[in-house]
Amino acid sequence: MMIPLAHRGPLCYFSAMASKRPTMADLGEFGFIRSIQNNCRFSPAKVIQGIGDDCAVMGPYGEKVLLVTTDLLLEDIHFIRYLIPPTHVGEKALNVNLSDIAAMGGTALHAFVSLAVPKALCPDIVHALYRGIKNMCKKYGVDLLGGDTTASPDRMLINITVIGEAIENEVLFRSGARPGDHIYVTGPLGDSAGGLAILLGKATAPDTAASALVKAHNRPRPFLEIGRMIARSHLASAMIDVSDGLVSDLKHICDASHAGARISERALPVSKNLKALATSNDLDLFDLVLNGGEDYGLIFTVPEKNGALFSEMVEEGKKGPFFHIGNMVKGNTIEIIKTDNTITPIAAGGFDHFMK
Ligand code: ADP
Ligand code: MG
Repeated sequence: MMIPLAHRGPLCYFSAMASKRPTMADLGEFGFIRSIQNNCRFSPAKVIQGIGDDCAVMGPYGEKVLLVTTDLLLEDIHFIRYLIPPTHVGEKALNVNLSDIAAMGGTALHAFVSLAVPKALCPDIVHALYRGIKNMCKKYGVDLLGGDTTASPDRMLINITVIGEAIENEVLFRSGARPGDHIYVTGPLGDSAGGLAILLGKATAPDTAASALVKAHNRPRPFLEIGRMIARSHLASAMIDVSDGLVSDLKHICDASHAGARISERALPVSKNLKALATSNDLDLFDLVLNGGEDYGLIFTVPEKNGALFSEMVEEGKKGPFFHIGNMVKGNTIEIIKTDNTITPIAAGGFDHFMK
């Protein structure tokens, strides 16, 4: 149904915005998600994990479980039309979902795409967007099976839902980490934030470095194969992907696992390109690395007793490199060992959609 323009009057039912009542910004994105977590389930369906992890997990069906994740990209919030080709928007819209499947150790199977597009938009643009989605579907063996389409007043919105599967006893949740577990990341952190700084004209870099950093932002790749390998090994205890920033996403593991973490500044993987960008543009390198977000690598934890076996497996399989950035600890805070060996707590400063 379409609401005629004449009825889109001034604020009425939604007028909390104009009053003194708390706003979404007061709650924050993660506070909001916590606030809706109760009273969500009313069917006897087999649910292993609802709201609160990278995917919902349903089942078991035989030895397998079903994984479902959904993510939306909104123009001017997640991408700016003039700074990313539509094909890459399509790629990214699918890949951020595939990254959530990777974070559970699963295999992606099916995708559903919902679109809101302005009437005046040339269909070539939307077809280019679909080329990006389909290219990634082909690359990762995913079937595009449906979706929904509507007009939007001015901006594009793309929402993708991906369905995947995993072996039940291989699934890695955010909640499995324990004090003492080693914390690993799969690759350099902050490159995507560096690329965004370049796209927004806040930093410049020589051509090759700039294009690598912009690529990290516009064309992230999901760590599906690595996620499967980690899950299949049965040696890890928890996993999440880096969408909002290292500290913010590690905090999700800490909160779900009722533990804290201590990471070492010296151990954080940083690319040469990002180091050079930060130095030449006077950017705070460790803010980019700790809070940058949208790198879509994986953070995972490995219990101390599995450490040697894990290293052996990585070496044998020539996978990685993986970077051991610290350990889980008792408590509920994240601390960082600075290069001068002082230890300070760090608050999650990563991306929050409602941050003031
Ligand atoms: P990710 O960054 O891994 O995509 P999010 O931070 O977006 O995860 O979401 C965290 C959890 O909250 C997920 O389980 C997600 O399905 C759930 N969630 C997020 N927004 C909503 C919403 N509006 N309604 C219900 N669940 C939500
Ligand atoms: Mg995620």
